[in-house]
Amino acid sequence: MEKIQNYINGELVAPIDGQYIDNYEPATGKVYSRIPESNHQDLQQAVNACKQAQKEWANLASEQRSILLMKLADAIENASEELAKAEAIDNGKPIALARAVDSYRSAANIRFFANAATQFSSEAHDMGAVGVNYTLRQPIGIVGCISPWNLPLYLFTWKIAPALASGNVVIAKPSEITPMTAYIFSRLCIEAGIPKGVINILHGSGQSIGSPLVEHPDVKAISFTGGSATGRAIASKIAPMLKKYSLELGGKNPALIFEDSCNTEQDFDKTVSEVARLAFSNQGQICLCGSRLYIERKLYPRFKVALVKSINALKIGDPLNEETQHGALVSQAHFNKVYSYIELAEQEGGTIIAGGNKVKLSGRCEQGYFLQPTIIEGLTIDCRVNQEEIFGPVCTIQPFDSDEEVLGYANGTEYGLAASVWSSNVSRCHQMSSQLEFGIVWINSWLLRDLRTPFGGVKSSGVGREGGLEAMRFFTEAKNVCIKY
Ligand code: NDP
Repeated sequence: MEKIQNYINGELVAPIDGQYIDNYEPATGKVYSRIPESNHQDLQQAVNACKQAQKEWANLASEQRSILLMKLADAIENASEELAKAEAIDNGKPIALARAVDSYRSAANIRFFANAATQFSSEAHDMGAVGVNYTLRQPIGIVGCISPWNLPLYLFTWKIAPALASGNVVIAKPSEITPMTAYIFSRLCIEAGIPKGVINILHGSGQSIGSPLVEHPDVKAISFTGGSATGRAIASKIAPMLKKYSLELGGKNPALIFEDSCNTEQDFDKTVSEVARLAFSNQGQICLCGSRLYIERKLYPRFKVALVKSINALKIGDPLNEETQHGALVSQAHFNKVYSYIELAEQEGGTIIAGGNKVKLSGRCEQGYFLQPTIIEGLTIDCRVNQEEIFGPVCTIQPFDSDEEVLGYANGTEYGLAASVWSSNVSRCHQMSSQLEFGIVWINSWLLRDLRTPFGGVKSSGVGREGGLEAMRFFTEAKNVCIKY
């Protein structure tokens, strides 16, 4: 059985004390590889490697850093099929999705920030005859990047790329649940000629390696994506250490669907299909997925019927099958959590109008963690199913009568990551956008990404922003130099 290795100081190495944990394939429910359960000793080796590499990497001309990162992006692109297959096996997502979204975006992330390395600039403030100020944007030093399991290499590279592009050295920890593509990525770093120690990848659980990484005094900043509870725990540890941190956390995202988004049959079909996509892509395991669908009452009956028909037609199957549209949930524990919310929905008075059942496939996927895409009707905003992040193929639908009413529902949870508004009325779309308490609002679209834009949430969905210049600013310290003439 394959043993995944850590990547420290440019080499693939076993964990120092030889401890491994099992890695399960969600589609089969079977262990298919083993992961280092790294600890503080492995971390110290990575910190030592970073210290050796730090100065040279920071002092490299930005163009040289950019060239190396471009080589890494090329290596990812060349390995895209291997990565897509690995992601489908490790995560349970359909291979077509892994190919179109995960492999593609991982290369795009690196390429985008390779360009940013040469375009990033800082400000000068002229004081006329008195003097001038200019601001240096200097790398922080050793930074920690911690990523979740839902878009494994995609979110891993989204953090690492700006950290490296701005001259930092990195210690990164992928989720223990989906470590495989980060392991392949280590090999690609070697192939691309990334200098030793510039990036180090440590595998293992949050407790054994995530926590020590966050608390290591030589690690000066933490970029974290994951659940809000973990984010809070991390912040409580590092805030007193006065480290810089960025937290991209959970969501409970609403979609606000107005009747005027469906003025023609064509618009109706398109909106139904996009809403199905926003709720159930990657089995609902994208932080940006909508899980609360609010539909204007006049449109509600017709929209509901079409939506149910659309999701009942999704092909559930082996993630490695090209035809599959709905794969497995990532783990048994996560399956149990998601399923418990379906049971809770019934206790809270909801009616399941689509799905709701475990799916038993035959052949190699007999023991996999498959769950039907599920829609629940009849729940109020204050119930737990509408308040807590489920992070699976489960959403609720509810009719509304006025803009004010739907705005109250949309803003009525502790989360504020992403909302979408579906309407042909531009003024309404703007009014809604300005009043929605979310970091991201999509109008008549979902997951339409431009990597230059600020990315992140408000309220319990996070602190700070990623993306474009925001990320380059996060990974640098501003130093103002004032010259008096
Ligand atoms: P977790 O918070 O459980 O874990 C995220 C990462 O943190 C994992 O690598 C985990 O390791 C690690 N970790 C766990 N405990 C600690 C700790 N005490 N110190 C340091 N690191 C730790 O999230 P999930 O992996 O379950 O991911 C799902 C969550 O991520 C959802 O809430 C989702 O909304 C959110 N998310 C947010 C996004 C955003 O951009 N806002 C994007 C994508 C997901 P391990 O798993 O190995 O224990």
